[in-house]
Amino acid sequence: MTDTCIFCQIARSEIKTDLLFHDDLLSAFRDINPVASTHILIVPNRHVESLNQLVAGDEALIGRMFSLARELAGREDVRETGYRLVANTGPNGGQTVSHFHLHLIGGRQMHWPPG
Ligand code: 5GP
Ligand code: ZN
Repeated sequence: MTDTCIFCQIARSEIKTDLLFHDDLLSAFRDINPVASTHILIVPNRHVESLNQLVAGDEALIGRMFSLARELAGREDVRETGYRLVANTGPNGGQTVSHFHLHLIGGRQMHWPPG
């Protein structure tokens, strides 16, 4: 539901959040509960629940999300030290906000496997 979805409201600037990036397709902003010094969320402006709801025509959107992640990693100065991109999907994937998003996390050593 786009009326109540928190990420839709952020993308429409209805909730005051510093947008690191915004164009007709995507928005990016800092996670409210960061797990590293860089923790940015990249979201499509259009409401899509998860990766499972994307369709073949969304391949360019997915590509843009990854390109923006790389660009923001550069701006955050973590591009060379490394970073992690995560798209939690569904209950077992740990998705808590039902609006598709890519986490960009960097600034510290990541571990594997994730919890
Ligand atoms: P998920 O668990 O669905 O992969 O990630 C959702 C993320 O959204 C979490 O890391 C959580 O901290 C973040 N988040 C939830 N509500 C808000 C909010 O209102 N503003 C921002 N900036 N981040 C949020
Ligand atoms: Zn939404």
